Amino acid sequence: CPVPKSANSTASVSPPPGELEHDNVAYYIKKKLNVWCRQPKGKWELGTIQSTSGEKASVSLLNGNVMKVSRLELLPANPDVLEGVDDLIHLSYLNEPSVLHNLQFRYSQDIIYSKAGPILIALNPFKDVHVYGNDLLSDYRQRTIDSPHVYAMADAAYNEMIRDEVNQSIIISGESGSGKTETAKIAMQYLAALGGGSCGIENEVLQTNFILEAFGNAKTSRNDNSSRFSRVVQLANGERSYHIFYQLCAGSSPDLKERLNLRMASEYKYLNQSDCMTIDGVDDAKNFHQLMKALDVVRMSKEDQEHVFKMLAAILWLGNISFNAADNENHIEVVEDEAVTTAASLMGCSSQELMTALSIRKIQAGKDTIAKMLTLRQAIDTRDALAKFIYANLFDWLVEQVNKSLEVGKRRTGRSISILDIYGFESFQDYELDGVDWTKVDFDDNQECLDLFEKKPLGLLSLLDEESNFPRASDLTLANKLKQHLNANPCFKEEMGRAFSVRHYAGEVLYDTNGFLEKNRDPLPSDSIQLLSSCTCELLQLFSKTLNQSQKQSNSFHAGSLDSKKQSVGTKFKGQLFKLMNQLESTTPHFIRCIKPNTKQLPGIYDEDLVLQQLKCCGVLEVVRISRAGYPTRMMHQEFARRYGFLLSEVNTSQDPLSISVSVLQQFNIPPEMYQVGFTKLYLRTGQIAALEDKRKQF
Ligand code: ATP
Ligand code: MG
Repeated sequence: CPVPKSANSTASVSPPPGELEHDNVAYYIKKKLNVWCRQPKGKWELGTIQSTSGEKASVSLLNGNVMKVSRLELLPANPDVLEGVDDLIHLSYLNEPSVLHNLQFRYSQDIIYSKAGPILIALNPFKDVHVYGNDLLSDYRQRTIDSPHVYAMADAAYNEMIRDEVNQSIIISGESGSGKTETAKIAMQYLAALGGGSCGIENEVLQTNFILEAFGNAKTSRNDNSSRFSRVVQLANGERSYHIFYQLCAGSSPDLKERLNLRMASEYKYLNQSDCMTIDGVDDAKNFHQLMKALDVVRMSKEDQEHVFKMLAAILWLGNISFNAADNENHIEVVEDEAVTTAASLMGCSSQELMTALSIRKIQAGKDTIAKMLTLRQAIDTRDALAKFIYANLFDWLVEQVNKSLEVGKRRTGRSISILDIYGFESFQDYELDGVDWTKVDFDDNQECLDLFEKKPLGLLSLLDEESNFPRASDLTLANKLKQHLNANPCFKEEMGRAFSVRHYAGEVLYDTNGFLEKNRDPLPSDSIQLLSSCTCELLQLFSKTLNQSQKQSNSFHAGSLDSKKQSVGTKFKGQLFKLMNQLESTTPHFIRCIKPNTKQLPGIYDEDLVLQQLKCCGVLEVVRISRAGYPTRMMHQEFARRYGFLLSEVNTSQDPLSISVSVLQQFNIPPEMYQVGFTKLYLRTGQIAALEDKRKQF
C-alpha cells in the first residue's frame, strides 16, 4: 500500500536498466560491474568489461580468460545481493542468463522451489531433498517459514477457500518427467494433513494414488512413472505397458495365478514386445500388495477385485491370440490354443464365439447379413481394439468406484480444492533456441491458435470429424481439406503431402495426418460389441451397456453432423476439456510449473538450454515480466535501513526504519518515479538496488 512519494530530486545514480548501451558501457567499466558474456557455444559466463573499441568489448572472465566480443554478446548481471532471490520478480535484470543462474544457484543447494511472480516453479531434483514431512508441514501451517514451497501454495489455496468462500484449484503443468504427479501428491499430503492426518477420508484420498498410478501410469523413455493414455497393445523400445500388468504377474498369490491361468510377464506379447520388463528400483510384487491394500481402503469388495484381475488377465491372453492363413486371399482363421480358450473363459464366453468375433465381420446388405472373413491386419486390429476397449472401460469404472467410495464419508463443507495433474507433453527440441530477449516479447493471448482448433464450423477438430464420416476419405484427403479451409489462419502452415504445421504457443509442431482418421474413429466392430454383451462377465456386460448409452447420446447430440455410431475421439476429448475448463473457471487458480533440469532423470545435472526452453514454452517469463513491470524490488524498511542506513551522512539512531529508507533515497538522489514508499515495504524499479549496492561497495 504505497504512500505519497518523498521530495523531488534530479539526478539518478543508476545505470539505465536492461541493456548495455553505448553510453553506459563506460559506467560498467568504471564500476567494475559484472556482466554476462555469451561464449561461442552460446553459454553465458560472468565477467567484467575492461575496455571497448567501436562495437567490440574486451571482457575479463571470472575464470581468468580475456575475450573480445561484440557488445551485443553482453548483458548486465545482477548485483551479488540479489544472488539466489526466491522470487524472480526481485531480479534487477531479467535476462536469460540472470534467470537461469538464479534458478541454478538455488538448485545447486537443493532449493528446488522458486517463485516467478504468482507462479511456483518446481525443479525436479531426481533425489530426496528432505523438504517434506510433518515438521515442515506444521512450519508452513504456522507460517514460521515462508520460502516458496508446494506446502505454501496448498496453504494459500486452503486459506483463500475459507476466507473468500470460493473453490480453489492448483494447476500443475510441465513436460513429461518434470514432476507433476509427485507435486500433486505433495499438495495432497499437505491438504490431507490439514484435514486430520493419517486416518479418515484424507488418508483414503491419498491411498487412491496407488490405484490410479498402477492403472494409469507406465514406464516411458522419459519417465519411469509416466501418467499415460492408451498403450495397452503397442510399446516402443525401453517402455512398458501400465504398471498393473507387471504387478499382477509378479505379485499375485499362487491361488489367484491358478484361477487366472497367469504366467510370467515375459510370456505375454502385449508386454514382451518392448524388451523392457522391469524398472530399476521398483518392486512390482511389493507394489501389487500395496495396490490390494489400497483397494481394500477404498472398500472395493474382494469379488470386484477379482473381476478386475480377471479382466487384466483376459487382456494379456487376448494379446497372445494368433492367426493362421485360411485361404489364398489373405483371409485368416484364429489358432485355437490356450490363449483363446483362456481369454474366452475369463471373459465368460465360448472359445468359438470369441474366435468368430475375431475372424469374421457381419455386414448388413439390405435385409441380408453377409459374413465376411477378415484379413490378418483386420483381425489383429479387431483383437487389439477389443483389448483397448476393455482396459479403457476398466479404468473409467475403477475411477468411478473410487469416487463413489470416497463420497460415503464425505464431510460436506460445500467448498473444494481441485488439483489438476495434466499429462505431460513431450518436447522433441524441434525449434531453435535463439536467445530472444523475452522481456520484449508482447503478451500473446493465443486466441488465433485456439480458433484454429475450435472455431465452428471450420475448426481443425470439426473438419477431422467431418472427414472421418466419409467412408472413402484418406489421410491425404484430410490433409488437403485442412489446407483448403485453415490456410488463412496465421497459426497454420501448409507442408508437403499429408503434413501440416501448427504454430503453438510453445513452438511450431509438424503433424503427419497418417492414421488420424482411424484414430479419431477408434472403431469397435459391432460383432465385438455383441460379443461383449453376451459374455457372462458382469463387468463386460456393463461396459457394452455404457457403450450403447453413449452411442445413443452421441447420436442425439450430433444428429446430422456425425453419421458414425460412436462419438469420435476428438469430440470426446474436446468435451472433456470443456468440462474441465468450466470447472476450473469457477475456481481461484494457483499455478505450479514443473521443470525437468535434465533428460537423464539424474540428480545434480542442470541443463541450461533445457530449462530455458521450458520456461519459455509456458510463458513463465512473460508472467515475471508483467509482474515486475511495476516495482520488482520489494524490501522491508527494516531490511533496507539495516543494509543501506550506514551510508547516510547524518545518521539519527532514533529514526524509524521508514524514515531511514526515505533519507537514503533522498541522499542518493534517486528520482521519485523510481520508487514508492509503502508503510512496511519500499518498492523500487529495475536497476535501483544495483546502484545502491554499488554505493555500498564504494563506502
Ligand atoms: P508425466 O507427464 O510423464 O506423467 P510427471 O511430470 O508427472 O510426468 P513425475 O512422475 O511426477 O513426472 O516425476 C518423475 C520422477 O521424478 C519421479 O518418479 C521422481 O523420481 C522424480 N521426482 C519428481 N518430483 C520429485 C521431488 N519433488 N522429489 C524427488 N523426486 C522427484
Ligand atoms: Mg505424471
